[in-house]
Amino acid sequence: MSMMIRPEALTGYKTREFKMLIDGQWVAGQEGKVIDRLSPAHGVTVSRYQSATKPDAERAIAAARRAFDTGPWPRMAGAERSRILLKAADLIEGRKDELAMLDTIESGKPISQAKGEMDGAVDIWRYAAALTRDLHGESYNTLGDGTLGVVLREAIGVVSIITPWNFPFLIVSQKLPFALGAGCTAVVKPSEMTSGSTLVLGEILMEAGVPAGVVNIIVGTGPDAGAPMTTHHDVDMISFTGSTVVGKLTMSNAAQTLKKVSLELGGKNPQIVFPDADLDAFVDAAVFGAYFNAGECCNAGSRLIMHKSIAGDVVSRIAELSRNVKVGDPLNPETKVGAIISAQHLGKIENYVRGAADGGASVALGGEAADLGMGQFMTPTILTGVLPEMAVAREEVFGPVLSVLTFDSLDESISIANSIDYGLSASVWSSNMDNCLAVGRRVRAGTVWMNTFMDGASELPFGGYRQSGLGRELGRHAVEDYTETKTLNMHVGPRTAWWVPR
Ligand code: NAD
Repeated sequence: MSMMIRPEALTGYKTREFKMLIDGQWVAGQEGKVIDRLSPAHGVTVSRYQSATKPDAERAIAAARRAFDTGPWPRMAGAERSRILLKAADLIEGRKDELAMLDTIESGKPISQAKGEMDGAVDIWRYAAALTRDLHGESYNTLGDGTLGVVLREAIGVVSIITPWNFPFLIVSQKLPFALGAGCTAVVKPSEMTSGSTLVLGEILMEAGVPAGVVNIIVGTGPDAGAPMTTHHDVDMISFTGSTVVGKLTMSNAAQTLKKVSLELGGKNPQIVFPDADLDAFVDAAVFGAYFNAGECCNAGSRLIMHKSIAGDVVSRIAELSRNVKVGDPLNPETKVGAIISAQHLGKIENYVRGAADGGASVALGGEAADLGMGQFMTPTILTGVLPEMAVAREEVFGPVLSVLTFDSLDESISIANSIDYGLSASVWSSNMDNCLAVGRRVRAGTVWMNTFMDGASELPFGGYRQSGLGRELGRHAVEDYTETKTLNMHVGPRTAWWVPR
């Protein structure tokens, strides 16, 4: 169900001008470049950012290095850092509507969803604050009378944090509070399309009491601003979320100076459905999984692998429900599917659909862009008769496009699920726990949902197998991920053993 965009939807909205945050100061880029961001739904310039180039990235890294090497942040008690993170969480909560509005008008995501993402982010900041107080090492008093071993957890140093456009505020919140909790300092670069909410976060962190230079935020393109953050000698770790292609490039750049790398990359997530599943629940989850965030989601449940005996009937029910999904103005609180991030990306989605149809798949629903009078939108789309070897079954479409594949046996369903390079998440639907556990144990994915889809919690680790990434975010080890381990091996008492015989 599509709703035309009202031309006056953003009338009167004043373009917001942002500077970059370096060493506690809001500054312009040294080369005077700016980036204008148009709302993808309304075609109006909503944000203007200063665009960083290599000298700006280098200044930001130098500030983070100084703050780490000589500043108070890494030396503070965990309880004090935790207090500041909790204050930041309260301030985020207080500015939730403003942050949600920025993410909505810059990314095209529905406003009601963006507000939910802010609630999720606040919870993550509070969770990170709690973990900060618990960060500790180990001691070994079991090595004999003459030895005491103490294992320290030390902040790893300066972290480059690079984020994508699809969940701008949520993703920086999956990284930065944990890095800060460990005592690290950071240079953050959001996507050049959706930098507004991350820059507001800079204001929040300054107000919360994060010292100058601890968090530096620059805006710019990948090659101009991001690449120097992945190669610079003074950066100790990179935490990157984005495409697998840029993730590989990041890893290869990091290799020159052997930085630690944490990568959250793409996904092509299978949903395996058995005939004994609660199909009402599944049909709703299938629609949610495919069209949430317009399918521009690493976790999108874009690959249905259904038992042959139910596929025809279930697809008809999914198609029927899909027709009721509201596509339209992201500012309308009833909208479920907003705008596509850019015209170029919409073209890519349409190409995948055309390629699948040319290869023999059938378009059971949608298949085209939606003309809502302005902006760029895609209609919810279902492709049936998709074969495991087709590009649409193996690659990230990153649009509201559901591919339907079928299986005869449990082994076949798992072999189809594992036949691609990604391994971010998966789901299994069955009332038989044996089916659920067989899939849960054998599917190569970082998260497996059972009779549910895309639920998350700050306590649960998240990340991918294979080419979906490296490392995990969230969960109780999330602060530790930003540390180095140091062993203190101590001799106790008079020396009794000699290397040179006496
Ligand atoms: P992208 O890889 O194009 O860009 C991500 C970030 O990297 C942006 O800030 C970009 O400016 C920067 N970048 C680009 N080139 C760079 C370079 N040469 N050096 C350093 N930085 C560079 O990804 P995108 O299009 O913004 O986001 C969509 C992708 O992100 C999808 O593949 C999606 O699956 C993935 N993603 C993964 C997760 C996860 O948790 N696994 C979550 C959200 C998105």
